[in-house]
Amino acid sequence: MSTCPESGEQDRSRRALVVVDTQNDFCEGGSLAVAGGLAVAARVKELLGTDHGYDLVVATRDHHIDPGSHFSSHPDYVDSWPPHCVAGTEGAELAPPLAVDDFDAVFDKGEYAAAYSGFEGHDAEGTGLGAWLGAHGVGQVDLCGIATDYCVRATALDAAAAGLSPVVLVGLTAAVAPERVGDTLDAWRSGGVTVREG
Ligand SMILES: [Zn+2]
Repeated sequence: MSTCPESGEQDRSRRALVVVDTQNDFCEGGSLAVAGGLAVAARVKELLGTDHGYDLVVATRDHHIDPGSHFSSHPDYVDSWPPHCVAGTEGAELAPPLAVDDFDAVFDKGEYAAAYSGFEGHDAEGTGLGAWLGAHGVGQVDLCGIATDYCVRATALDAAAAGLSPVVLVGLTAAVAPERVGDTLDAWRSGGVTVREG
């Protein structure tokens, strides 16, 4: 019996790389800059230029229109943040040298509420990340991007819950609070996420 990913049969033999929220506002010079963000963008671009072995490469983007209390003029940097990644602005674009053309699909999230996980995102046709990966026969994902302790953390945990055996390439991430990354590593270990230096 042949299997075809597009037909809905369950061929899940493909692997994908999910590049989380590597956007201008999360990099040096952005409104919510994470130290090391630009270096992550450069190293991911370098990886994409190699014979990396991924069948598919996708990106997620924070993409806010009116996300309510996610934005604050007095942010606590835990649950509320300075305005960032506003849809249609340069801050929401992928950080150079990364560009939309580097990816098989891009998933936007957080239009009207905080959305830390890329699995809350959708592509231009409205297809969610999980459904898209399934339709494309993906059974395993690696993850990288920004920020280790927020959106990479949440996306990786959702990938584990979806049975995608996630591996975080932690050397290709940057954290808001590097001194507290241990908490994220613990959450990943107990949540079924593998960590590799990458
Ligand atoms: Zn946000």
